[in-house]
Amino acid sequence: MIGDIPYEIVGGNLRRDDLVALLSLGGDEIERLFEKAMEVRKKYVGDKVHMRGLIELSNTCAKNCYYCGIRAGNKEVSRYFLEDDQVFHAAEFAYKNGFGSLAIQSGERSDREFIDKIEYLITEIGKRTNNSLGITLSCGEQTEETYRRWFDAGAHRYLLRIESSSQELYHRIHPRNAKHDFNNRLKSLEMLKKIGYQVGTGVMIGLPHQTAEHLADDILFYKRMDVDMIGMGPYIPHIQTPMWHDRGLLNSDKERFELGLKMIAVTRILLKDVNIASTTALETLSEKGRLKGILAGANIIMPNITPPVFAKSYKLYENKPISDGNVIPALEKLHADLKDNGLSLAFNSWGDSKHYFERNLKN
Ligand code: SAH
Ligand code: SF4
Repeated sequence: MIGDIPYEIVGGNLRRDDLVALLSLGGDEIERLFEKAMEVRKKYVGDKVHMRGLIELSNTCAKNCYYCGIRAGNKEVSRYFLEDDQVFHAAEFAYKNGFGSLAIQSGERSDREFIDKIEYLITEIGKRTNNSLGITLSCGEQTEETYRRWFDAGAHRYLLRIESSSQELYHRIHPRNAKHDFNNRLKSLEMLKKIGYQVGTGVMIGLPHQTAEHLADDILFYKRMDVDMIGMGPYIPHIQTPMWHDRGLLNSDKERFELGLKMIAVTRILLKDVNIASTTALETLSEKGRLKGILAGANIIMPNITPPVFAKSYKLYENKPISDGNVIPALEKLHADLKDNGLSLAFNSWGDSKHYFERNLKN
């Protein structure tokens, strides 16, 4: 048994109530949940952890999400856009160190200059690295034409978090206007899938007013949308945002961290063969948080390879860890910790989502 649920059922066809019960587990039961998630993870996606070298391309954003430190309305942020050479340098670093993949993330813009620039960078990275790096983009909502151009240039995965699958909660954390339209976000996910991307989504965990039922529904949303990748993590307040004022409503950092891990585990158990990232927000709330995320069922990490002077301006939330540029020693440490747990880092391999191929076989 895990909680009140027989062990055989966990891993089988979980209903909404079961998901809520698992997300509400406490004490020793949580370890049992993680063990089950590890079992499922090893069976469906193996014992490797794949890397995406994260490049935070620009902190300029046209949107105003209430939770995010780089929202357009935050006038205290010094805005940057990496020079082309800085991007190529980071990509070559990832290539030389066997990272296998890149993830390029940015504030959302939809002007021509931005669209052209992303297309150019993807094409040029391909040329300079022998087309040997997998490329994930996370650059927000765009038109179908833009998504297609970037796909044709060589990006093949796209991460667009739904943030919350509850429309009501989504509206609480975004301005109510055309730029922050829940249905457009859904439409974007559909477009990305149609074009042929491996599609990822995710939510923030521990938001004010969010319940275990909301989170269970988020996991059911992932399943219904048949996504290939999940990137989710605890919500962490940022002082220069409207939601800072609601921080009194939050559970403790420790509770939000633990809930983040439980979300990973339950998502792994239900969705099985998807890629799940152990995100930076976990590392922010707990020492070795990234490792703990992996041991709860995640199989992807995103080492930050943005030049540190810029990474500190890509501050989505308080206390975001800024690497001192010593990415490799940190990975060596992680690799040793993973080995102690029967896992290891994968080198020179894309680590595409197994689910993507299964999904396309069916269609
Ligand atoms: N602009 C793009 C990508 C960059 S933001 C987009 O919004 O899709 C990437 C993610 O950071 C967002 O999806 C959000 O889930 C997360 N994020 C932003 N502010 C956060 C906060 N205060 N706490 C935790 N995660 C946050
Ligand atoms: Fe911009 Fe993304 Fe932050 Fe929203 S979450 S303000 S779209 S960077």
